[in-house]
Amino acid sequence: MVSDAFDVIVVGFGFAGGIAAITAADAGARVLLLEKQQDAGGISVCSEGGLRIAKEKSEAFNYLSATNAGTAPEAALLALAAGMTGLADYVKSLAEPFGATVVCRDSAGHYPFPGADTFGFATIEALPGYDHAIDFPQVRGGVAGARLFKLVLNHVRSRPTIEVRLATQVQRLLQAQNRVVGVRAGGQEIRCHHGVILACGGFEGDAEMQRQFWHLKPVVSAAMRANMGDGIRMAQSAGAALWHMWHFHGAYGFRHPDPAYPFGIRVKKLPDWRPGFPPKDVRMSWILVDCHGQRFMNEYEPYMQDTAYRALGAFDPAMQAHPRIPSYLILDAAGRARYPVSAPTWHDRAVAQQFGTATAEEFDEQILISAGSITGLAEALGLPPESFVRTIDEWNQACAAQQDAAFGRPAMSMLPIAQPPYYGARVWPVVSNTQGGPVHDERQRVLDAFGVPIAGLFAVGELGSVFGHLYLSGGNLAECFIGGRIAGLEVLQSTA
Ligand SMILES: Cc1cc2nc3c(=O)[nH]c(=O)nc-3n(C[C@H](O)[C@H](O)[C@H](O)COP(=O)(O)OP(=O)(O)OC[C@H]3O[C@@H](n4cnc5c(N)ncnc54)[C@H](O)[C@@H]3O)c2cc1C
Repeated sequence: MVSDAFDVIVVGFGFAGGIAAITAADAGARVLLLEKQQDAGGISVCSEGGLRIAKEKSEAFNYLSATNAGTAPEAALLALAAGMTGLADYVKSLAEPFGATVVCRDSAGHYPFPGADTFGFATIEALPGYDHAIDFPQVRGGVAGARLFKLVLNHVRSRPTIEVRLATQVQRLLQAQNRVVGVRAGGQEIRCHHGVILACGGFEGDAEMQRQFWHLKPVVSAAMRANMGDGIRMAQSAGAALWHMWHFHGAYGFRHPDPAYPFGIRVKKLPDWRPGFPPKDVRMSWILVDCHGQRFMNEYEPYMQDTAYRALGAFDPAMQAHPRIPSYLILDAAGRARYPVSAPTWHDRAVAQQFGTATAEEFDEQILISAGSITGLAEALGLPPESFVRTIDEWNQACAAQQDAAFGRPAMSMLPIAQPPYYGARVWPVVSNTQGGPVHDERQRVLDAFGVPIAGLFAVGELGSVFGHLYLSGGNLAECFIGGRIAGLEVLQSTA
């Protein structure tokens, strides 16, 4: 069956697809929004819901330029910087019809580059009628992200010119006369007058693509199976260039012993900090060691959830292996009593059904191995006891001196490992979200290998994010909203 009743087709219904669809519909388009899963939300609905905003465009641009280290063109970064200065007002305009409360606060970028102080966050603090257990029983993650997604969902549902089809996987792009003219989805060819906006996320759920593009392996995914790089393959088939495929946002975390649990489990998030401004009154209960029983990193990096996986990637040519995959997270009874170390997240019906009622403490119970002595723990984890005992001794001396001369961990975060029983668990690199995908310009047009726009094809959200070196927290969500608005209008300029 062939249909051409639509002006625009949007593929994927997370934040990026939702905002692109709303924008195109408000500009008068009939929009088809296609989502692979039974439920909308993607990994967007698991997020912590903080949208990066900025006071000054030029300052934001300076910071984004420094953190991108030449991996994205000036024009694309300028568009993002400009978008950040108007984002708070846009979110307020979305909030107003549904009585939602927006809170904006200052929050500097994590790294000491020019422009860091211009940033803040906008979050939805309250939304009448939002009830996580009813709205998103299949989701575990940041409640503010789910609340923000519910607001976007309300807007999509209130627009009769947006047709949403769930459980509909887009398989291919349709091309004619050198332009993208529609998609094939569920055995149907669907055409549109203006163009296709790919908003179908990254490749968190695609182990094969990860093996091909990432040097460290295996990496476990934090939240969702459906983002399998479909948009990357479709854009490639239309001739797109790719960028930032190496770059993902992630930390270290656990695997569940039950193979029915398909995700990595992120380690507890502690407050982020900035070099030169160490965290105050924050204690981290654990250290990490490699397969030799030795520490190898500052476990509490400034922005752990972004870069902490990177230290696990070292390759040892003598071993012909990664000695830090897995690594081992070690704590003692006093540390364990402080807080659970597991922070599971998911958007997955089957996982929610089986594990939905388990608390973080119960996850810890499943994951942590215990022993009455340090040598006993070494034996249980398969670590060389002598070197492991030496590491723990050195660590405890460093705690007493309040100085981690080896790796520069913030003094306030240090806790000795001295009170039995002792606990340990294997940890792996965990991907929260990927940044790679098709190259796009400042108008969100997908570019081919020679930098030429592919007519009728746009990409938004984390599918080809501009972040190609260091990430700015809240930047992915900001990109979904800013890029989604740009693409939702630009697509209407595209006609055969
Ligand atoms: C636990 C967690 C916390 C996070 N916290 C933050 C945060 O606080 N701030 C921040 O900025 N970022 C955060 N991120 C990252 C951020 O959530 C994502 O980068 C962003 O939400 C991606 O949005 P998106 O719309 O591009 O993709 P998604 O929200 O993943 O949406 C893509 C959609 O496309 C669908 N899809 C895939 N393939 C197809 C296909 N072939 N056909 C149709 N549909 C398809 C998927 O099912 C999915 O619903 C977090 C990520 C995780 C996992």
